[in-house]
Amino acid sequence: MDKSKISYIWDNKLIECCDRLPAVLGRASMVHSLIVTYNLLDQIKVVRSKPASYQDLKLFHTETYIEHVKSFTDVDEDYMPTKKDEEYGFGYDCTPVSDMYDIISNIAGASITAAECLLRGIADVSINWCGGWHHAHKSKAEGFCYVNDIVIAIEKLRKKFSKVLYIDLDVHHGNGVQDAYDSNESVFTLSFHKYEPGFYPGTGAVTDISSKAQGYSCNFPLHASYCDKTFVHAFNNIIAEVYSYFKPDVIVVQCGADALSLDPHGGAGLTIKGYCTCVYKILQTKKPTLLLGGGGYNHANAAKLWTAITAHAADVTLDENIPEHTYWPEYGPGYTLKVEPLLAKDLNTTQYIEHITAIIKENLNKYLGEYRLSAVLPRKRKLDWGNNSKWNDSKNDDPENKTLETSDVYEFNE
Ligand SMILES: [Zn+2]
Repeated sequence: MDKSKISYIWDNKLIECCDRLPAVLGRASMVHSLIVTYNLLDQIKVVRSKPASYQDLKLFHTETYIEHVKSFTDVDEDYMPTKKDEEYGFGYDCTPVSDMYDIISNIAGASITAAECLLRGIADVSINWCGGWHHAHKSKAEGFCYVNDIVIAIEKLRKKFSKVLYIDLDVHHGNGVQDAYDSNESVFTLSFHKYEPGFYPGTGAVTDISSKAQGYSCNFPLHASYCDKTFVHAFNNIIAEVYSYFKPDVIVVQCGADALSLDPHGGAGLTIKGYCTCVYKILQTKKPTLLLGGGGYNHANAAKLWTAITAHAADVTLDENIPEHTYWPEYGPGYTLKVEPLLAKDLNTTQYIEHITAIIKENLNKYLGEYRLSAVLPRKRKLDWGNNSKWNDSKNDDPENKTLETSDVYEFNE
């Protein structure tokens, strides 16, 4: 991957806004800080984020919803949601916060800026770790998601790219994005997630294939505690087929970090290796790719994962020992990039994975035409997953004091 063709979307205001999301308070700063600490921004293009306009938000959300978001300007800590708030999803898991319009326009704007980098050809891979809010609906906040920046970014991408493959690696089903494209054959949604009785959002069974554009949604439901081996097996079983049947022009990946082991809202058991194996395989297609964040409620682990993926995209090896910086104490007791696998038993059997795979392949064949698998994706390439000896020593020239100079940041001219 050409390092200069990777863009990382950033702006102080964006980080500030994302830090204020109640479910992930302060996470954005921690993620950005780790990426800066590892000097990764020297290796990639930093592109300044711009807030989304009202018109941009309307690419997906209804005017009445946006207007309601606008009404939250000054919200007290003891604010009691009204009936109308609840109609729009504000209450239980989407607590209203002050200046919410500012938050949603900045987050959506960052994903739009990321999409712009692909549209203008200034990047092959574009990264917004502040985005990936896949549960938000047209007129409703849901599951910690106040704006569906993904759908808005996809709508922008569709101006140039006619076929968009959306891949969702979050532990929760990507329901908001799937529903948005229920009747659209230009966007194929593929979600891998935990699917258990009572687990949010409760959708995403293998039989869930879209009601109108049938076959253009694909779901790989997994039982609790899925580990790297299961996840990569499921992914490898179907990704080449999905790719060659659908033939995307651009790929959008939601890299929600809550399938990492010990996430407080997760219940899966992935490590960084599991995620990176899949992301690496996606990047090998060399299609323009948008990488987004999402869930991830163990902030230290989310920061480790997204830093590792950024490094992976830029083909940089990282020192496994996390360099000292402001958030360093939060990476204890190990202070390394490692996320330990789950000790609980993986409830998925090989037979189960093969059974789901068979159903998915049958659907692809049935709804997306003739079987036409070609060798689009290189099947085997030996990957190095960082034995200690293989990790480079980091050149830590006091990154904590490092700030982004204006001259380092690329800005779009209108
Ligand atoms: Zn999630």
